[in-house]
Amino acid sequence: MKTLAKLHGEKGIWMDDKPVPEVGHNDVLIKIKKTAICGTDIHIYNWDEWSQKTIPLGMTVGHEFAGEIVELGSEVAGLKIGQRVSGEGHLICGHCRNCRAGRRHLCINTKGVGVNREGAFAEYLCIPAVNVYPLPDDISDDMASVFDPFGNAVHTALSFDMVGEDVLITGAGPIGIMATAIARHAGARHVVITDVNEYRLDLARKMGAVTRAVNVATENLDDVMAELGMKEGFDVGMEMSGNGQAFQQMLERMEHGGKISLLGIPAKDTTIDWNLVIFKMLTIKGIYGREMFETWYKMTSMLQSGLDISPIITHHFKVDDYKEAFEVMASGKAGKVVLDWT
Ligand code: NAD
Ligand code: ZN
Repeated sequence: MKTLAKLHGEKGIWMDDKPVPEVGHNDVLIKIKKTAICGTDIHIYNWDEWSQKTIPLGMTVGHEFAGEIVELGSEVAGLKIGQRVSGEGHLICGHCRNCRAGRRHLCINTKGVGVNREGAFAEYLCIPAVNVYPLPDDISDDMASVFDPFGNAVHTALSFDMVGEDVLITGAGPIGIMATAIARHAGARHVVITDVNEYRLDLARKMGAVTRAVNVATENLDDVMAELGMKEGFDVGMEMSGNGQAFQQMLERMEHGGKISLLGIPAKDTTIDWNLVIFKMLTIKGIYGREMFETWYKMTSMLQSGLDISPIITHHFKVDDYKEAFEVMASGKAGKVVLDWT
């Protein structure tokens, strides 16, 4: 089968030919229809320091996908051949303290599809049946192919009460932009997003959920707050840039008692003014992945109750044109880029 794999320890991704994976007792084989490119795939493509330490050479990459079940392991119950599915890319151990307590997203032994083991950029993907997420008919394959990052946005946004709150999102990447729509859907008052990339701020405006999309390289966030009549600060913050300065800017503009969820992955040497956290009595929560499967349930039900995040998909490519697709994604002039495998 055709796959996109990290064959060499240098910049790039390569098309490879591999055998269709063997299906274990508790596994499901999925024929892939659509995949989406994640920021993580771009790190792997660029072969940065993190990828060099993490990614085994030869591995098929990718973890955002939608497809159809074509084979079931002998022990699998509750799923059918022909069923349309997406799936959770975090594989958990099932026996650590959190797994046994039912807090599966907190598993201490989490392994990532397309990061620690064979990924989804392939004609077929084999994953444990418990990781499969069956799709209702009214969720399109396109939409399902971005459920993984959409889930990051939902997990982050629903971590704190949104109703009537003023929300600051730093970083208008695909996840930050999806978070604007979720915050609005969940009842926020002002939704302000920041970035330094005009293309992405424009895309955030097109999403139709922001009060203001602010380019912090050219505009002053304090002026925007004054204009909105915000005297004290933001109630909820979502850090979605991984940029230390953006996080510091957020801390400075939080209301006392404000709540922040951190999704963006900062550089190791990032420093902030911790006094702001203490004297403002802020609550800070780290976010990794999606809650299994509460986040997936919320994603589906919000889409079914009128949440529209479709503008986030800005590009489609046939898988054979994957090089162009990766270049577009890496350029920063894209929302989500979807690859078609059929
Ligand atoms: P992305 O890299 O596409 O978007 C980040 C955005 O932040 C970019 O548009 C960039 O221009 C912007 N930015 C840079 N400097 C800024 C500044 N000073 N102020 C405001 N914005 C600034 O990333 P994404 O795919 O949308 O993901 C968002 C973040 O979440 C990334 O850091 C990613 O690594 C991380 N992530 C975390 C998880 C998790 O489970 N914790 C999962 C997926 C992604
Ligand atoms: Zn576990």
